[in-house]
Amino acid sequence: MPGNAIPEQIDLAIVGGGAAGLATAVFAARSQRDRTIVILDGATRLGAKLLMAGGGRCNVTNRVVTAADYCGGSPRVIKQVLAAFPVERTVSFFHELGVGLHEEENGKLYPDTNQARTVLDALVNEARRLDVRILTGHRVTAVEACELGFRIRTGEKALCARRVVLATGGLSLPKTGSDGGGYGLAQSLGHSLVPTTPALVPLVLAGDFHVPLSGVSQDVELTLRAAGAKAIRIRGALLWTHFGVSGPAVLDASRHWHRSQLAGDDVSVTVNFLPGEDFAAAEQRLLALASSQPKALLRNALSRLLPARVAAAVLRKLEIEAELPMVHLTRDLRRKLGHALLAWPLPVVGGRGYAQAEVTAGGVPLSEIDPRSMASRKCPGLYLVGEILDVDGRIGGFNFQWAWSSAWVAAAGCR
Ligand SMILES: Cc1cc2nc3c(=O)[nH]c(=O)nc-3n(C[C@H](O)[C@H](O)[C@H](O)COP(=O)(O)OP(=O)(O)OC[C@H]3O[C@@H](n4cnc5c(N)ncnc54)[C@H](O)[C@@H]3O)c2cc1C
Repeated sequence: MPGNAIPEQIDLAIVGGGAAGLATAVFAARSQRDRTIVILDGATRLGAKLLMAGGGRCNVTNRVVTAADYCGGSPRVIKQVLAAFPVERTVSFFHELGVGLHEEENGKLYPDTNQARTVLDALVNEARRLDVRILTGHRVTAVEACELGFRIRTGEKALCARRVVLATGGLSLPKTGSDGGGYGLAQSLGHSLVPTTPALVPLVLAGDFHVPLSGVSQDVELTLRAAGAKAIRIRGALLWTHFGVSGPAVLDASRHWHRSQLAGDDVSVTVNFLPGEDFAAAEQRLLALASSQPKALLRNALSRLLPARVAAAVLRKLEIEAELPMVHLTRDLRRKLGHALLAWPLPVVGGRGYAQAEVTAGGVPLSEIDPRSMASRKCPGLYLVGEILDVDGRIGGFNFQWAWSSAWVAAAGCR
């Protein structure tokens, strides 16, 4: 085919050129060089989300990734897909592309350059080197099965492809181009949808307790309790904000809160300000402070256990005299304080929505794909990868690992 012209009949069309779509293109092109592979993306530039990932540094994966790091569809299926392209292969793949990765706290792996751009450029350059045709500004509006495979329509043109991979992502950060349009394409080809909610998203609180704490970060354990369900406990950093709470522990908790809301369950969220400690330990800590510093003021003593602003806000809310010398802390006050520190209620009234969510929970059910190939069980010749599927990982590089692993499986499956 001369020049840049795209033949009307192509072998493989990948709808969506985010992490999963780009990786699928590279893996597929490497395994069969003679195929015509085209990526169609609605955005004018590829990779807006990749560039924002990990605070602009792109947390590519995690040192240890297991199915337990994900929610959504069957853990058995997630495990099978991850096993086909585990973390070690992700590390070597990026190494081959010239992107060294290094480990940071909680096993997170980042590019040595600390720039997401390095990851995006490596994927795009490799795709181009392998003659993958990348069509940006081509939002796919319809995919229809036809005799030769599929007819794909964009505002600009119509293409025929023998096989199609849907890599359109979810609904998170719709301004990047991942606006949920891909769900409609999947549904038009026979798929159903597990209802979606935002995940990895900050939570909005009622009241004003959080307002003066904005900017304070602390280690906590969050507990979510819904009637009749096992309590969910998440430990990590919580960041107070002007609207409520954020930080890794809150982001991880947010999907559970939203799923409970979706199910119509009443869910309570409490914070343990002394993570890992029970009531006896908390009381012991307060007793120890009282005996070692009997003249210290309660607010100062408490500031040894919590950030000072949080300690002051807690005492204010409990209407306990902040200037009370520790020696005068009665048993009743100590117990009241101890209980409050272990189960401080967070009056969650909502989340910040898809516009601030890092990922989408829900999507195309895993039961509708074959995990050996990511092939649709509903529509022969169709494959699905990445966030469009009903899989969402916790914070730490797990969502990209799902993109890389599912891309690998699809590329091997769609020959
Ligand atoms: C701010 C932020 C930070 C994040 N940081 C991390 C991190 O550090 N580590 C991590 O593991 N995960 C992170 N994530 C999550 C991660 O980015 C996603 O899980 C991952 O990008 C999903 O990849 P995907 O290819 O499936 O979808 P996407 O990356 O969303 O790509 C989908 C692509 O499809 C295109 N598209 C959609 N519909 C159509 C259509 N109809 N026609 C044509 N094209 C279409 C879109 O334009 C887009 O380019 C972050 C997410 C956000 C929002």
